[in-house]
Amino acid sequence: MRAGGRGAAVSGALLLLFLLLPVAAASGWWLARRDPGPKARSTPGADPDFFRGINYLLDEQPDKAIDVFLKLAAVDGETVETHLALGSLFRRRGEADRAIRIHQNLIARDNLSAEQRGYALFELGQDYMRAGLLDRAEILFQELAEIGLQRERALRGLLDIYQQERDWGQCLEVAERLKPFSERPLAAEIAQYQCELAEEARRRADPDAARRALARAQDVDPHCVRAAIIEGQMALADGDREAALALFLRVADQGARYVPEVLPGLMQALEELGRTDLIAVLAGLAAREPSGPVVLALSEAQLQESGPAAAKATLTGYLARNVDLAALERLLDLQARAAALGAEAAYRAGVVHGVVRHLLTRQPVYQCDHCGFSARALHWQCPSCKRWGTVQPVQPERIPGDEVLRERRLA
Ligand SMILES: [Zn+2]
Repeated sequence: MRAGGRGAAVSGALLLLFLLLPVAAASGWWLARRDPGPKARSTPGADPDFFRGINYLLDEQPDKAIDVFLKLAAVDGETVETHLALGSLFRRRGEADRAIRIHQNLIARDNLSAEQRGYALFELGQDYMRAGLLDRAEILFQELAEIGLQRERALRGLLDIYQQERDWGQCLEVAERLKPFSERPLAAEIAQYQCELAEEARRRADPDAARRALARAQDVDPHCVRAAIIEGQMALADGDREAALALFLRVADQGARYVPEVLPGLMQALEELGRTDLIAVLAGLAAREPSGPVVLALSEAQLQESGPAAAKATLTGYLARNVDLAALERLLDLQARAAALGAEAAYRAGVVHGVVRHLLTRQPVYQCDHCGFSARALHWQCPSCKRWGTVQPVQPERIPGDEVLRERRLA
């Protein structure tokens, strides 16, 4: 289940261009056009076919671009940029073996500039990753990061490898090395690595190590919702219900969209504390952020305490403003139980209910804010775009306010 195949192809082609142009410039592409000396043969600047290939890339026609670059490479085996473009295109097309051969041949040359060598080594590292040869990619990226060529990209490559290997200690070390070169802050990622370490410590029944990791996560990113969730779950498991409740309510402050994740624990803590204000707490949460699970829990508590009328009123009020199949399914269920329908009306109601229930099983529960990846389980790192903390519980689609008013007037 993922979205945006075409979008990924476009951004892939643009990224390639972005990567290619600085290399061409650095290697004297532009200079060569003005001063066609003996080195000009190693640059593609004078050849209009190179631009034709670039245009094909811009037009998202990688196969045509490959044809052009292959011809160029056959005419002039020296051109570095042409080979870099070819290697990258083959890798993007899934032909990692061909990409590896091209980049290895490039690196074997003794006339490359330092920039060209660094670039080709980085590309080779990416080929290895594509081929699943993570250990070889790791060696290359480590070397590049140490000699200072393509340093930021090499460190990001290492981060990618260690994340795939779930080696969070190494991730933390690389993130520290990356900090001075990174344009965007790494605090959120670092906090997530600490949370991963905390989860591992919990699994091996080492609560002290888990708490230390969570404290570090909150030091580096005070808004880390995940750390509050884990800490709350640990407190509840320890029987410290007051602390658990405070932490779960902090989740509502820090990231209201994650409340469904802590809802069962929050309700358990309230119940075990003997609190009688469950409905008030849930109503407060529902008023802050539209959330199907919270409204369902609220209507359930109202059903228990004061009967179906209050539960139905809550569900109806919510559905008047939000498109939510789970709430609709529950409302239909309550209505079917209450009404004494004739056989045909009961059959029709049953069909409608069945359709809603079927649609509900296909409704994504979580979605990535960045790439649109949808899932039915929470992933702290998006499996598609690899960003952290972007997969969130799906919020219901809002019905515009004027439509709600019109419906009321009609009623
Ligand atoms: Zn994503």
